[in-house]
Amino acid sequence: MENFNELQNEILRLKKEKNALILAHYYVPLEVQDVADAVCDSFAMAQKAAKAEQDLIVVCGVRFMGESAKILSPAKTVLLPAPDAGCPMADMVTPGDVLRLRAEHPKAKVMCYVNSSAAVKAVSDVCCTSSSALRIAKNLDSEEIIFVPDVHLGSFVAARVPEKKFWLHNGFCPTHHKITEADVLAAKRAHPEAVFAVHPECGDDVVKHGDLVGSTAEILDFARRTEAKEILIGTEGEIVARLRRELPEKRVWGVGAAFVCPNMKKVTPEALFECMRDEKYKVELPEDQLRRARESLDRMVNS
Ligand code: SF4
Repeated sequence: MENFNELQNEILRLKKEKNALILAHYYVPLEVQDVADAVCDSFAMAQKAAKAEQDLIVVCGVRFMGESAKILSPAKTVLLPAPDAGCPMADMVTPGDVLRLRAEHPKAKVMCYVNSSAAVKAVSDVCCTSSSALRIAKNLDSEEIIFVPDVHLGSFVAARVPEKKFWLHNGFCPTHHKITEADVLAAKRAHPEAVFAVHPECGDDVVKHGDLVGSTAEILDFARRTEAKEILIGTEGEIVARLRRELPEKRVWGVGAAFVCPNMKKVTPEALFECMRDEKYKVELPEDQLRRARESLDRMVNS
């Protein structure tokens, strides 16, 4: 398939022919987002998969996103176009790490960011997203919390819930972790009128400069609603591309160079086409893991 538009048309044809639902994360290439039925955060993808009438779900994102969709839709077929697209942060914590932390801090409950494997979710007490983390931590019936895997999101939450004791795992997102305070200050000097929206996966010294600290969806919402004409974005570069296209009347700038998640870029239109054509790369998880991971996600929703 040489012509890109032709490839997009082929994907749309397969989608109709197979009655598939295509879900895309905001960080995959815009060409993939453009053929998706919905573009959203990882947990919203899983929820949309569960509510959909389709039985074939294609998750354009990294592995833990496909797993989350499978956890909420165990009877459906969930496909991952790029099976080697992992999340380095999710891979930084194992079920063994969680069990060790539990043994070290027996009074604590385990709160795990959705950017984690199904196996880690299965040994956690409750999950959280970047937008629900504060609420979940406040409502959790424990004075001590083990937070995995993201040390930056964990530290952001711990600073705002001082009444509880936090034990933070030392994982991080290599993409967000790369941005430094010097990058932010340089961007602010270059664009003094700009407001700054930043993701809490960045370090404390970056996040403290944010006019908004929020999830990807919250950053998009902020950019759409702000009266400011210039916006600095402290998250993955595809968000900058998306906002520039969507808000041509505003000037949108990324902070720092190469703010790119290489794993998300593995989800190319070609990979999506081949995955749908061959119905390959199905997400399969052990039944016991599915059930226990589901309990952690349900506790998040009900908290
Ligand atoms: S941006 Fe970071 S947290 Fe998100 S998938 Fe990539 S490595 Fe993982």
